[in-house]
Amino acid sequence: MTKRVVLIGHPVAHSLSGAMQQAAFDDQGIDATYELWDRPPIGLPDAIGEIRGDDFLGANVTIPHKERVVPLVDRLTEEGQATGAVNTITREGRRLVGHNTDVPGFKVALDKLIGRQKMPRQAIVLGAGGGARAVVFGLIRESFQRVVIFNRHLHRAEALVKHFGRSASHMELRAMPWHESIIEAELAKSKVLVNATSIGLTSDVSPIPGEVLPPELFVLDLIYNRTRLLRDAEAAGCIVSDGELMLLHQGAAAFTLWTGRPAPIEVMGRALSAARAGGLRSAEGEPTGEPQEAAAGAGASGPAGA
Ligand code: NDP
Repeated sequence: MTKRVVLIGHPVAHSLSGAMQQAAFDDQGIDATYELWDRPPIGLPDAIGEIRGDDFLGANVTIPHKERVVPLVDRLTEEGQATGAVNTITREGRRLVGHNTDVPGFKVALDKLIGRQKMPRQAIVLGAGGGARAVVFGLIRESFQRVVIFNRHLHRAEALVKHFGRSASHMELRAMPWHESIIEAELAKSKVLVNATSIGLTSDVSPIPGEVLPPELFVLDLIYNRTRLLRDAEAAGCIVSDGELMLLHQGAAAFTLWTGRPAPIEVMGRALSAARAGGLRSAEGEPTGEPQEAAAGAGASGPAGA
């Protein structure tokens, strides 16, 4: 029987995970298909019910469901529990296990961004959704001493801080209101900026004006494109990375969880690059028409997400 893995999100048409995972299944001779399921929040419980069937190896979960899916699975791994967010599901019989492979994916991306320099201790995170939770957990694990979270809806950032309460008791983890002047003041005290909002995913806008970016800041955008934020940051003299490496490594970890095999990471990386070069699509599935060549370096132009 051909096995199935699904990506559950809303929207999902922008996703490159299908190309990457299908290439890995094919390369390893695994008889499985990777399907994109666009399900709005109201359809999530039914989708989770469906993947309990024998034909499923598991699933990926993406925007906006990573937190909402937590109570729908039967067990959480340590990282799923610690973050309160799930991006990968495996089956144990009819029981579902929730994992968070964004955590190891973020670690690879952060290490690459910082390179040979000493790991900084202060960071700003824009966003408080499922992706931000993996980021904050990663920063806590890396022994950051001060992390400030800005989010459009402050209460969500406050809930995130509350969630991490005990694991962040040795450090300063704060939620602050999204005001440009406060962000600017905090940027002056920080070494790392992570964009974990979806601003820039479907249009060429930046969450913050380029003028507030100090030089020599490390800037990581989880969106796997050369976003406006990354272009502004580069122009300001910052060191930048997009989310491609995180995407690749969260995908590799998920592949291993579903199949029990090491992921063919080069194959997955090549499939990802080929999918990007083959024409990016917006979250709504419309071609963006943006040329790929403009994207050499930090990542491709045009919108995409996990
Ligand atoms: P969620 O839906 O859980 O969270 C979305 C976040 O973006 C929230 O903080 C939300 O703020 C904010 N946001 C969305 N639209 C706006 C807006 N117009 N103005 C201000 N804030 C806005 O999504 P995820 O956390 O799962 O994903 C966030 C981004 O990170 C996506 O672009 C996704 O593709 C990317 N990502 C990439 C990964 C990778 O492997 N490279 C892994 C994980 C995520 P509010 O709470 O106020 O609504």
